[in-house]
Amino acid sequence: MYADAWLVTQDSHTGAGRLTIDLGAVVANWRAVAARQPGAETGAVVKADAYGLGARRVARALAAAGCRSFFVAQLGEAVELRRALPPEARLFVLNGLVPGAEALAVETGAVPVLNSLPQVARYAAEARRRDRRLPAALQVDSGMSRLGLSPAEVDTLAADPTMLDGVEVVLVMSHLACADEPANPANAAQHAAFVALADRLPAAPRALANSAGSAFAGFGHEVTRPGLALYGVEPTGRTDAGLRPVVTLEAPVVQLRTVAAGTGVGYGLSHVTSAETRLATIGVGYADGWPRHLGGRGAVWFDGVRLPIVGRVSMDSLTVDVSALPEGALAEGAMVELVGPHQSLQDVADAADTIAWEILTRLGARYERRYLEAGPAA
Ligand SMILES: *Cc1c(COP(=O)(O)O)cnc(C)c1O
Repeated sequence: MYADAWLVTQDSHTGAGRLTIDLGAVVANWRAVAARQPGAETGAVVKADAYGLGARRVARALAAAGCRSFFVAQLGEAVELRRALPPEARLFVLNGLVPGAEALAVETGAVPVLNSLPQVARYAAEARRRDRRLPAALQVDSGMSRLGLSPAEVDTLAADPTMLDGVEVVLVMSHLACADEPANPANAAQHAAFVALADRLPAAPRALANSAGSAFAGFGHEVTRPGLALYGVEPTGRTDAGLRPVVTLEAPVVQLRTVAAGTGVGYGLSHVTSAETRLATIGVGYADGWPRHLGGRGAVWFDGVRLPIVGRVSMDSLTVDVSALPEGALAEGAMVELVGPHQSLQDVADAADTIAWEILTRLGARYERRYLEAGPAA
């Protein structure tokens, strides 16, 4: 049913690359993560437009599969997404409440993650103004020093619970700094710090685990917050994790040429051919989020053959050496594979000296996007 996602096809008419997103695989991956922590509710992190894959489409597919807790980073993302979700779905805003955002958060029906005492105070004041209790998550800083109430702020809140009058604490959460290194002792230290801090706050469901943390025994608590794993990448690099690939990225051949030995290729003429070489110019570049760093080190694939990128990656194109293919195998308009069965997102990230999160979230706006529907709930 999804097999056609993997076909290298020959029909780009617009010259754009094609991004295929398998929503069935997203749902399958959400269920696979859920199976790691059977006692916990499995949420979904759909910030940054669901890591570049389309937050509305992804969130709708997951909501239809039963997901009820969604996480975005910014209130504007919650505004965009709220009406795409069923009313009973909760939409948490991880970066918290910037001053002045209190009313919009309430009117949006978003649940802010309160990260500091000033945020608690402003949100409690909004509750008093409206004479109603407002739902919020409290985040504690268990050691990452990024977001959340410090231990001293937790002390202050614990000493004066009236500071939370009007605030209904629906989740207490924290975030792991080193979960992609399962053996790192910081994980256990953060877990212990999280539990100790949460014990001092009003009783509420707890959430600690991201994708990587969802694999750690005892880290599930009541709610998990996977992101990357839903999109088909196991953060710890485990290949036996049972996740399905979600993304296929292809781009068209826009020109073919044969050049003599000693010919410079691309900006700066940084590559010079050492022999007669057949080249293909591919219609994807750094403006599409394809890393410029892959010039001279990355590759694309066609028909199971690796085609190395030669010279620099341009804004709208890159050039590959196609000499390894039989003559005539490629024609203008043929689609080559950038992400797919021969080259995973992790492979691309490794070659570009970055992380799969960055490759995904930078996927450009110019692609022709194709969604494979999740189909009826299993
Ligand atoms: C982004 C984020 C996540 C998801 O992390 P993944 O590693 O992509 O699973 C979970 N929790 C918080 C607080 C985040 O910021």
